[in-house]
Amino acid sequence: MQQLLGPGDPPPYAVFNVKGKAPLLLLCDHASKAVPKALGDLGISEDELSRHIGWDIGGLEAAIELASVLDAPLVASGYSRLVIDCNRWPGGEGSIPEISDGTHVPANRDLAKAEIDARADACFWPYHREIDRQLDLMTAGGRAVAFLVMHSFTPRMNGFERPWHVGVLWNDDPRLPEPLLAELRRDPSLMVGDNEPYTARDAYEYTLNAHPRPRRLPYCSLEVRQDLIGTSDEARAWGRRLAPAIRAAVAAALG
Ligand SMILES: [Zn+2]
Repeated sequence: MQQLLGPGDPPPYAVFNVKGKAPLLLLCDHASKAVPKALGDLGISEDELSRHIGWDIGGLEAAIELASVLDAPLVASGYSRLVIDCNRWPGGEGSIPEISDGTHVPANRDLAKAEIDARADACFWPYHREIDRQLDLMTAGGRAVAFLVMHSFTPRMNGFERPWHVGVLWNDDPRLPEPLLAELRRDPSLMVGDNEPYTARDAYEYTLNAHPRPRRLPYCSLEVRQDLIGTSDEARAWGRRLAPAIRAAVAAALG
């Protein structure tokens, strides 16, 4: 198969704070808006690529700050979700969207299976193999660890103004999300969504279903509204603001 990535392309994932001692692995599925050189600009403008359809605005910087404050390792994806979405099943719904929030992506139209496989092999599987590798290392000897995926969400969708500042997304394991919701709600100025603005109870969620769930690790996603973390300073400040609640929730979850 032809290699999608070439010289000058960034790596498909990055690991931050790899020696972090906390019993917590942080993830960022939509950390980057990079596109492999071989795919050009995907047929869309830089402005479109920089919208929430291309990546989670502010998500990586908030996650890096969390990793630092909590002393936890962080694995972040290396390519735009419009190349291939690291939180969707490869070949499945939404994996390589032809249209995202009204924007047509010409480079994603009528792909042959070999082209889909090349994107998955270059940009999807290396990230997920690294998550598995980190979890294997962290859980060696039966050590208990928690799993938290950072995302950010657009403040408006289909004409609806989303009121939440942050949202906790979870499925059927309450060990991490319930204490996290309780800790976040101790701050009365924070509007906290419980499986809002999305639910993690949908089968299309890849990362949570592929990693922590089969390993029976406590897990959830944490979403932050993008207009709150649009600058580097804001993203880092929100990382610091959210860290104590996460630390307490992880301690409660691992009991
Ligand atoms: Zn995301």
